[in-house]
Amino acid sequence: MCAITAAKRNKSILILEKSNKVGKKILMSGGGRCNFTNLFVEADHFLSNNPHFCKSALNKYTPYDFIAMVEKHNINYVEKNHHELFCEKSSKDILNMLLKECREMDVLIETHTDIKEVSNNKNEGTLFPYQLKVITNSTHKHTVQCKSLVVATGALSIPKLGGSGFGYELAQQFDLPLVTRRASLVPFMFTGEIKNLCENLSGISLPVAIESNNKVFEESMLFTHRGLSGPAILQISNYWSPGGEITINLLPNINAIEALLSQKQNTEKSTLKKYLTTLLPKALVTNLETLWWQPIRDRAFLEISNDDLKKLGYKLNAWKIKPASTEGYRTAEVTLGGVNTDAVDSKTMEIKSHSGLFFIGEVVDVTGHLGGYNFQWAWSSGYSAGLVA
Ligand SMILES: Cc1cc2nc3c(=O)[nH]c(=O)nc-3n(C[C@H](O)[C@H](O)[C@H](O)COP(=O)(O)OP(=O)(O)OC[C@H]3O[C@@H](n4cnc5c(N)ncnc54)[C@H](O)[C@@H]3O)c2cc1C
Repeated sequence: MCAITAAKRNKSILILEKSNKVGKKILMSGGGRCNFTNLFVEADHFLSNNPHFCKSALNKYTPYDFIAMVEKHNINYVEKNHHELFCEKSSKDILNMLLKECREMDVLIETHTDIKEVSNNKNEGTLFPYQLKVITNSTHKHTVQCKSLVVATGALSIPKLGGSGFGYELAQQFDLPLVTRRASLVPFMFTGEIKNLCENLSGISLPVAIESNNKVFEESMLFTHRGLSGPAILQISNYWSPGGEITINLLPNINAIEALLSQKQNTEKSTLKKYLTTLLPKALVTNLETLWWQPIRDRAFLEISNDDLKKLGYKLNAWKIKPASTEGYRTAEVTLGGVNTDAVDSKTMEIKSHSGLFFIGEVVDVTGHLGGYNFQWAWSSGYSAGLVA
């Protein structure tokens, strides 16, 4: 996006790509159909040390600007839950669109490129202050000189899709502060009885409300053989602090204490399991029974004390569990943290202390919720830099 925007200003652009092709994350995204933006994008959908930082870029290049490009290329798209936009056919459509725009603007793309060294000649009047020593195709050594250097190396998530820490190394070389990084939009893993429960229930999903550090998401949650996943879990992983708890409301639209007490009055002879299987997947109820009400499992409602029903109702609405860890960068969709926005001009993405040096996209400390926000940040920040780089 940055290359296309700058090329439209008659700049000569060279994209240096480490791997065999550009845009691998685009291809894998959204289950192969790329959730390329969201109809409602606001600063509240992003995490950053400076929550206002993303506003300028997002206003400069909005979801509607990207949709206009998608429509210009006759790519069909569909709106899914929460105003998320996906390709109707394939993520390839988005990558091909960007590559076509690059071709039309004579943007050069050099793949299989290893950047060995970046240096900055600060002497006044130097025409090309940035020099990069690169090796292409393992053998061909050459030096690239440029007026503007835009770092768009992404972040640490999914190394086999190009995830790398190179952007952070460059930031450190230029003395830029970094915000601590951590894998995010990522499944949780557990130990002990919760790990066993997740294994037993692998493949089952249900709608929940999930809370951590005062942030709540209502989405579906999926049990896996490693732990918990699904949109609710990925969303809350942005807000969870390692070592902290998450609180899961298994019955988000029901006051479980009231429901259990009224059930006791109405169907005295029924059992907890019989009633709860009308509200939750049977296998989940069977596993929760073993964990939570094994000693009273055979009792009819009438024989269960109100105190026990209240305790159980509370747990159903606020089940507190502590993830042991996340699945880490191997499966994380994004990396939280990155280049501290204090060092970056929010209007242009230029580094305040180094003219001609820009950082855009995920390498910067701006992380979106699940739902097309991370790509929108990549498009918007790339466009902003492309207007001046
Ligand atoms: C599986 C998956 C699914 C996702 N789905 C969605 C989705 O549907 N919607 C959404 O909004 N977001 C999604 N995301 C997040 C989104 O892909 C990223 O936020 C976005 O791609 C970031 O764009 P970027 O240009 O900053 O970095 P990237 O897309 O990661 O691009 C960085 C590029 O730099 C290259 N590179 C790295 N190091 C070097 C180096 N040393 N030298 C040269 N080149 C280098 C990489 O090979 C890569 O091509 C998903 C992420 C993953 C992993």
